[in-house]
Amino acid sequence: MLRPNRKDRLHAFDIKNNFLTVLLLTAVFFAGFIISLNLKIPGAVSYILCWGISYLILFMGTCRNCVYYGRKCPIPLEGSCVSYFFKKGENQFGYISLLWATIAYIFRVCIPVYIIFTEQMITFGAFYFFMLAMFWIVHLCFTGCPNCVNYQCPLNPEQEN
Ligand code: SF4
Repeated sequence: MLRPNRKDRLHAFDIKNNFLTVLLLTAVFFAGFIISLNLKIPGAVSYILCWGISYLILFMGTCRNCVYYGRKCPIPLEGSCVSYFFKKGENQFGYISLLWATIAYIFRVCIPVYIIFTEQMITFGAFYFFMLAMFWIVHLCFTGCPNCVNYQCPLNPEQEN
């Protein structure tokens, strides 16, 4: 598996470490919200609910087992908020944790993606997918994983390629 090279070892992230990630995830959230308004109020409410559920899935399946539990991690509102909802787990972080994270992100994008394809929203849809791709590229290759101290994670630079 291709992993980024190590840049730093950050035991907590602040806004100067992950500003671009925060900006891109915020853009993804609001772009998705605007797209969901195509289904009027039910679309917007379902979208917000899906984001809420996605955080619970992430907290339960991923963040409670991460070394950033209770600390600011590369992604906003995750490691810093999990302790309000779940007790710390066993620190067993692996592919299953990434699977839960993937499920959480499917919740976040399912409504906008459904609307983009059914309504054939080419321009705004392209913008949405571009922002989503940029978010993951920046997180995985530049601001998040290269600085992360969750050495058990399969995407961490510390893992053998
Ligand atoms: S290596 Fe990357 S994906 Fe894994 S916990 Fe760290 S920041 Fe998250």
